Amino acid sequence: MHRSWFRTKLVEKREQVTSKVKEGVKQRARSLVPAQLTKKPESMDKCMVCGKSLKRSTAISGEGRVCSPACAHAWVRDLK
Ligand SMILES: [Zn+2]
Repeated sequence: MHRSWFRTKLVEKREQVTSKVKEGVKQRARSLVPAQLTKKPESMDKCMVCGKSLKRSTAISGEGRVCSPACAHAWVRDLK
């Protein structure tokens, strides 16, 4: 009885620490993203870096949508 109570407390403590760390990482990531990039793009077919419209064929699936290798490079650099 007593032991399981102690274990529950330990788990709670660990979860608190984990969520605190996650929040810190999130805030740091947010502060590194330029204001321009934190805005949601009006269209999914626009370059995330320069805002130029993308042709469907050039749209990159996933998180990054950029019009050219140069913009892709700039976007990746800004993320770091
Ligand atoms: Zn671009």
